Amino acid sequence: MPELSPEILAKYEPVIGLELHAQLLTDTKAFCSCKAGYSDIPNATVCPICLGHPGTLPVVNRRHVEMAVLLGLATKCSIRPISAFARKNYFYPDLSKGYQITQFNDPICYEGSVTIEMEEGLMKEIGITRIHIEEDAGKSLHDIDIDTLVDFNRAGMPLLEIVSEPDLRSASEAYRYMVTMRQLVRYLGVCDGNLEEGSLRCDANVSVRLRGNSAFGTKTEIKNLNSFRNVEKAIAYEIERHIALIESGGQVQQVTMQWDASSQCTKEMRSKEQAHDYRYFQEPDLGYVRVNQEMIEMQQSHLPELPLAMKLRLQDQYGIPGYDAGILIEDKQLALFFENTCAELAIQNNERYKFVSNWILTEILKILSDKKIGISQAENIQPRGIAEIVDLFADEKISSKIAKEVFAEYLQSGISPVDYVAEKGLLQISDRTEIERIVLSALEGEEDNIAKYRSGKNNLLGYFISKVMKSSGGKANPRLVNELLTHYLQ
Ligand code: ADP
Ligand code: ZN
Ligand code: MG
Repeated sequence: MPELSPEILAKYEPVIGLELHAQLLTDTKAFCSCKAGYSDIPNATVCPICLGHPGTLPVVNRRHVEMAVLLGLATKCSIRPISAFARKNYFYPDLSKGYQITQFNDPICYEGSVTIEMEEGLMKEIGITRIHIEEDAGKSLHDIDIDTLVDFNRAGMPLLEIVSEPDLRSASEAYRYMVTMRQLVRYLGVCDGNLEEGSLRCDANVSVRLRGNSAFGTKTEIKNLNSFRNVEKAIAYEIERHIALIESGGQVQQVTMQWDASSQCTKEMRSKEQAHDYRYFQEPDLGYVRVNQEMIEMQQSHLPELPLAMKLRLQDQYGIPGYDAGILIEDKQLALFFENTCAELAIQNNERYKFVSNWILTEILKILSDKKIGISQAENIQPRGIAEIVDLFADEKISSKIAKEVFAEYLQSGISPVDYVAEKGLLQISDRTEIERIVLSALEGEEDNIAKYRSGKNNLLGYFISKVMKSSGGKANPRLVNELLTHYLQ
């Protein structure tokens, strides 16, 4: 593909709409009582219903409907009181029934929206066209044997398809939308949001138009993007491909593309002529989905504080920067840990809340990412212990260096930081006279260096500071050391 100049790229406006499939965390499959969890053993969680044996009858899973309603409410959708199921007919080896049960003209949720935050405080509303209930197909395995093998464990797994309006205007907006939606389904507890393992899947529809035009250009659809990076890269590539095509006098054809991660480009999968005609018709084996007021109220009462709302609240309530709040809310448990730690502090103020946030973002996240665990699995890290360290530090009873030592010991033995500091005599020296004494004795015999410092070698201050800190066993209050040294060196 030819390089496009920034001027040419700027002539066009990308238009993007995403279709997401979320696999739900129900106990059982969509229309039978097979276990919905993952199984290593192929074709272990199957039954005549999800395999589509003749004469079997599907039954709607109440949890599937409830999760659809919950997600619909969280995305400000209207909820349809009565909606039907449809059969989407096509042939593929991993679809033993020959059709997929889905919803067509009357999805259970419709016309909602989701707020994404692009930069600090810059919000954008993305329309949600619809959310509908459907089942997954099985999985074809092409690379294990010379023949294609089929695993039907996934057949009949409960899905929600979430279709956005074509409201996204760049690859990075699409990326933000994906991140936001993943956070949302995780907060709601309806889906684990794992792109790599396919429990959250994304198809991206992309077109471009000349800026100022109101009509949309012809779109292409990129199938099955299995990571956030690939979503962003594939869309960015496809945008440039469309622009290059139009600039060279060509026309975009409505085709289905596939992202090829190895060559980092999109490739055509099928053209419009090859598009399926699914012969949708109403599923005769199932009745209507009915959502009454009681179910809506019940789900409304289960609606937790949503990620963006939580982020803004943390900023507001604790005075922490948006950057900090954004990282904390990426994992709801981490945000709760932050709040619980703040609640344990001896003194409640924004300075201490920021110390807590700093400690989580640096020390704690480092440990969690090394161990590849979440905060709830790190049993040796509790709000009480972290609050004690922050209080000791904020009261200037320990330096940041000693704080790290105390933290390491706390992780190891679980000893209360306050007790440990008292036991080991690690309390910071904040007594002016005593520090003065240490400073003066450290300056003894340093006439040469002092002269150099006074003649302008300012960086010698660091040398003096570390000398004083060392002779105090790391316990001298750094603020006082700095102040007194500067005074005596004048
Ligand atoms: P189709 O009939 O091909 O399935 P839909 O109208 O149902 O198309 O839209 C599918 C997805 O494509 C939606 O997410 C929608 O926002 C998006 N979309 C529709 N038209 C365009 C367009 N011109 N450019 C980009 N995305 C589009
Ligand atoms: Zn089954
Ligand atoms: Mg469609």
